[in-house]
Amino acid sequence: MIPTSFEYSRAKSVGEAIKMLSDGGAQALAGGHSLLPAMKLRLNQPDRLVDIGRIPELKYIRREGDKLIIGAATTHHEIASSAEVKAAIPMLAAGAGHIGDPAVRNKGTIGGSLAHADPAADWPAMMLAVKARIELTNDKGNYTVAADDFFVGFYMTALKEGELITAIHIPIPDGDYRSAYAKFEQPASRFAIVGCAAMANVSGGNFSDVRIGFTGVADAAFRDGGLEAALNGQPATAATIDAAVAKAAAGAEMLEDHYASAKYRAHLARVYAKRALMALI
Ligand SMILES: Cc1cc2nc3c(=O)[nH]c(=O)nc-3n(C[C@H](O)[C@H](O)[C@H](O)COP(=O)(O)OP(=O)(O)OC[C@H]3O[C@@H](n4cnc5c(N)ncnc54)[C@H](O)[C@@H]3O)c2cc1C
Repeated sequence: MIPTSFEYSRAKSVGEAIKMLSDGGAQALAGGHSLLPAMKLRLNQPDRLVDIGRIPELKYIRREGDKLIIGAATTHHEIASSAEVKAAIPMLAAGAGHIGDPAVRNKGTIGGSLAHADPAADWPAMMLAVKARIELTNDKGNYTVAADDFFVGFYMTALKEGELITAIHIPIPDGDYRSAYAKFEQPASRFAIVGCAAMANVSGGNFSDVRIGFTGVADAAFRDGGLEAALNGQPATAATIDAAVAKAAAGAEMLEDHYASAKYRAHLARVYAKRALMALI
């Protein structure tokens, strides 16, 4: 289908983009790989697109002390191929490499994915596992929100009107931390039917500081506190994982669609939690 007509402006800076977005009916365009399909289906009909995809101050990956900071308009491909990311938290580079196909990875951005908050998107689960903070900018300045508080519902986030995601701040863990992302993917799009990101400290042979993020399971990505509690303080062994994953995603209100029933999704949540956790040990 063809979208309704719209104006197009390209912003040269974050300040200019924020000003342009203050026009009612304007919407940010990053990689366009979620927004344009929605416009073609006329699920979204903005009057003006403000292109933020080529703003240099939104496109970077850098290490600052014990933090990895990724600009919002950094593409999935740039993250997948970043030596900085691979060295700091390899799961993020590997996970990015499994998003969509090369066209999606070359245009789609991490900020666009987090703002869109598709319940089957990969980044939200990984952001929850790595304790990311999302940097938001408005006409008064910027502030950060923990990933834990960012994904609030079905395609809904803590982002307010007129705000942009400008960066993602990720603490680089110190010690024997390991992380892994495992997903059962829709074979055509590679969106997660169920995806599980796990990060834990395994020093001394026990699990501690375990963080589990699920996507694809419910109407928004979420942390699995029950599974984390079942693992924390326990020996980092296959037996611990086997026992703990029986509780994976327990209590989540499972999505049900033509890809997977609620019952099948619950089964997949246990299987993919186990795969992610086994990769840690
Ligand atoms: C065929 C196909 C396969 C895909 N497969 C996968 C997959 O396997 N896994 C996966 O996770 N995703 C997948 N995607 C989605 C893809 O990753 C998108 O690129 C991503 O969801 C949106 O990023 P974008 O930069 O394209 O954002 P856009 O489409 O440009 O924007 C999406 C939304 O976010 C808003 N927005 C964009 N940037 C910002 C910002 N910095 N601040 C505030 N709001 C902003 C826009 O206004 C819009 O509402 C797929 C998409 C396609 C078309």
